Amino acid sequence: MPRYGMVIDLQKCVGCGACAVACKTENNTQDRAKGQTFNWADFIMKEEGKFPNVKFTAMPVLCNHCTDAPCVKACPVTPKAMFKTKEGITMHNDERCIGCRRCQRACPYSSENVEKSAAAYSVISFNDFSDEVHPMYRDGKELIKGCTASGAEVAKAAGEVPPYRTLYKHPDYDSVRRKGVVEKCIFCEHRVKNGELPYCVVSCPAKARIFGDLDDKSSEAGRLLQKHRAVALKNNKGERLKSGEKGTRPNIYYIRSFRAEAKRA
Ligand code: SF4
Ligand code: SF4
Ligand code: SF4
Repeated sequence: MPRYGMVIDLQKCVGCGACAVACKTENNTQDRAKGQTFNWADFIMKEEGKFPNVKFTAMPVLCNHCTDAPCVKACPVTPKAMFKTKEGITMHNDERCIGCRRCQRACPYSSENVEKSAAAYSVISFNDFSDEVHPMYRDGKELIKGCTASGAEVAKAAGEVPPYRTLYKHPDYDSVRRKGVVEKCIFCEHRVKNGELPYCVVSCPAKARIFGDLDDKSSEAGRLLQKHRAVALKNNKGERLKSGEKGTRPNIYYIRSFRAEAKRA
């Protein structure tokens, strides 16, 4: 069985955000609200040093599809709503999820409220029990006063909320989530099972995201892990796991960080 994961080449990533936008369009995620980012693909932006010796890092982040996933252990329903597939994807089932948010509290890369916790990002977001999902498309107000149509009008004309969404079919996941459930990156399993790459990978103009079987030494991802010193994140504040530290055994690896290997590129 493969162990799906991703290698992100930090020297290739220019922080353009194409992956984040691609993920939002592919998976129909909504705008940030109530301390929930709804960004399955996100960034840690870091500025270090003092002028003129300054360094800026844009580090793409997403669910780490951890081998020892605490979100799965924390999920109280049977069968679990947060679970591992045999290929190592941390998958989520909308139907079984009761919205208890235990997974969000257990995940070291998530926060119940990014504004209050001052976290850089949150892998898991929660759709409130009372709020409509994608409220913009239910809003009757003009987008620009006296000028453009409201979101509600656009949605009505398109016959969809949100209009023009990507209509994928997945046995565990609605292409637009419902109220009262969590959501997160599913490694685009709906694409991967059809032999396609995750949409963030396809959309990266710098080819900085490499998806594949990390245990297969002949795959591009496996090859890069052998060639470069790889690091993984420890939490959603940008701290990295130290050498020998396993954490939750994340499967998203970063190679060629600027300081360490820039001269060897
Ligand atoms: S990053 Fe968080 S949500 Fe993703 S598998 Fe790990 S613990 Fe679960
Ligand atoms: S919010 Fe859903 S997926 Fe998360 S722990 Fe509760 S039931 Fe499981
Ligand atoms: S793998 Fe798919 S779901 Fe995950 S961040 Fe990339 S585009 Fe989004």
